[in-house]
Parts: sequence; C-alpha cells; structure tokens
Amino acid sequence: MKKTIRLISYLVAFLLVAYLLTILFVTPIIDKKFNTTTLLPPYHVSTQAQQVYERLPFIADLHCDALLWKRNLLKRHNYGHVDIPRMLEVGMALQAFTIVSKTPVNMNFDHNSAETDNITRLFIAQGRPVKTWFSLKERALEQCRQLYRFADESQGTFRVITSVADLQQYMQDKQNNQNITAGMLGVEGMQVLEGKLENIDAMYAAGIRMMAPVHFFDNKIGGSAHGIKKGGLTDFGRQAIKRMEEKHMIVDLAHASPALIDDVLDIATRPVLVSHTGVKGTCNNIRNLSDAHLKRIAAGGGLIGIAVFEPAVCGTDAAATARAIKYTADLVGIEHVALGSDFDGAYTMHFDVTGLPLVVEELLKLGYNEQEIGLVMGGNVRAFLLQNLPAE
Ligand SMILES: [Zn+2]
Repeated sequence: MKKTIRLISYLVAFLLVAYLLTILFVTPIIDKKFNTTTLLPPYHVSTQAQQVYERLPFIADLHCDALLWKRNLLKRHNYGHVDIPRMLEVGMALQAFTIVSKTPVNMNFDHNSAETDNITRLFIAQGRPVKTWFSLKERALEQCRQLYRFADESQGTFRVITSVADLQQYMQDKQNNQNITAGMLGVEGMQVLEGKLENIDAMYAAGIRMMAPVHFFDNKIGGSAHGIKKGGLTDFGRQAIKRMEEKHMIVDLAHASPALIDDVLDIATRPVLVSHTGVKGTCNNIRNLSDAHLKRIAAGGGLIGIAVFEPAVCGTDAAATARAIKYTADLVGIEHVALGSDFDGAYTMHFDVTGLPLVVEELLKLGYNEQEIGLVMGGNVRAFLLQNLPAE
C-alpha cells in the first residue's frame, strides 16, 4: 500500500513538473513557430520615407492577436509581431488587441465546422486559469484583464482606450510625451457571448468596444466566410447587433460571410469597419471583400483595415499591402482606408510592428502625399473612433 502511495506521489510530481515545463518552455516555442515574418528586422527605408513616417500624427492598427500567446507584452521580444516596447520604438499611437476564443482544428479558408477547437489545449499549455479552459466567455474576459494588467504595470507608458473622452485625453497627453502608447480591445467571433445577449454587457464592462460577429466557423450570430453554411444574420444576431449599437460598440465585419455582411449592412444604423482584410480586386479569395461590399461599407461611413500577410494581399511584402490600399482608396476614397495588420494572428506577416515604415515607403512610390499617407496610417482610425466610440 505504502509503495503504491509513493508511486502515485512520484507520478503526480512528475506530471506537475512536466506541466510547469510546458508552460515555461513550450508556450514561447508555439508563439515563435506561428508568428513569423517574411523579412527579418531591423527594417530599412529611404530617408524620405523615414522622415514622413516620423512626422505622422497618429499611427494606428485595427487588428492584432497578441493577447492569444501569453507573451509578456511589457518586454521586448525577438519573436512574435507586437509588444509595447516595439510599439513605442516605432511611435505607434494605437493598436487594437482583438481576442480569439476558439479556432477549428485544420483551420482553412473554405470550410470549417464549429466542432473542434485548438484554443482549449493552447490555454491549458499556457497555464491559463482553469475557468478559461472550458468557457469561451472566460477566455475573452481573461485576455481583457491581461491587457489591463499590462497597462497597470507599464508605469504609464501604455493605456487602454474605451471612450472618446479617453482618446481625447490620450491625444492631449501624447503631445507632451511621445513615449506613451495605447490599445483598444476587440473580439473575433461573438461565440464569446455563449449564446446570451446579456454577455454583450459583460464584454463591454471588460473594456471591449469592437466585436466581429464571426471568426472561422458559423455561430449563433450568423455565417462565417469560412464556415459550412456561410449564412446571414440569425434573429439572435439581429438582436445582438442592435444591442451593440445601443452601447456604441463597433461592429467588425472581418471574416463575415457575404450574406452576413449584407444582412448587417441592411440593419446597421451606425458605421461598421472591417478590422483586417484584403480586397478581391487585388487578391481574389473567399476571405476578401468584393467591390460591392467595399462600396456599401464606405457609403455608411465605414472603415476598411488592410492586412499585411500573404493570403490577404496575395504578396509577401509591403508593396502588396500598398496595392490593396490603393485599390480600395481608388474605389471608395482614401478616407475609408486604414491598416489592419493581423499581427500575431498565426500567419507569416510581411514584417513585425517595427516594419510599419515600409508601408509608408510603398505608398510614397504609388504617388501618395504625406497627408494622404497620414490618413491611411492612422488618421482615419482616429477620426472613426472619435465619431463612434461611446462618449465617456
Ligand atoms: Zn482574423
């Protein structure tokens, strides 16, 4: 009997040590493996591009999944795409941190069911709180708390923006101190509501101000571009969009099926955005926006965030992103175009966040002037948020 007890305690101790080692060493390996870049830093641009970049008044990016990887964003890393020191180094004003809660095994662009999930085992391997292992809502709330913890521990260099008042105060503070930066919280896929409308209030209370109805699979809200049925908005989805609008939460149509985009635009009374996308005009695939949808979104005062990875822009460099920006600007007006990188989204990016000046270089080559480049690189995001975030 004693022998059995001793054996069991050895086994438990061994498993605990193995789990701790997984948390410590496997998590960064997974992060490094998934979040690579085509070009390695440091990135070099012409003197002109660098000067234009440094004069840009507000540099913003509508989408990154950095919170998914349990990376300490207060420290500078030589892997992954975003952390606060790199944001400061490159003079970033605002990065949207968008929350992933569930992704299908063998995730692909064309056809994914909701039955499987990669994130459960990722969260277990990362040693996240046990309640996040079994609840998509808790996964989202934990990632929100994580961003606020970074803000608390950043000694004032990083803050989370949730309102027009916050943004105005931040812009004022930034005039006196360039060495500060900010984030805002979004969600990829409203499965985090766990089917309950009142959880929109819980997400709002946690700081989330932007939500995409769907991610890689169809859910209770409606169809994903990558789902099985790829349908439109459900009745529940209609109620959810209405409740978001009442709270001045921004609807993000990234990953939505064409039918869902149409249905949301039919009922939306406020501008929407697409946080990270490409356009069919330069890269024709199921993920990207048609000309008709670009026009409808812009007509409602919306914003299109152009991504910086190959499947979105059909190229592996900043020139491909600039081509998609130009195509969109030519079609709907430059005041509707923004950056929506998808940094840390488990794709090979053209560059990490410190490579943003490369986009300026390519936009200059396409003939854009400094004022127009300023709009795309963040001016339009600032204007959109000043118009669409809750006042307080
Ligand atoms: Zn995405």
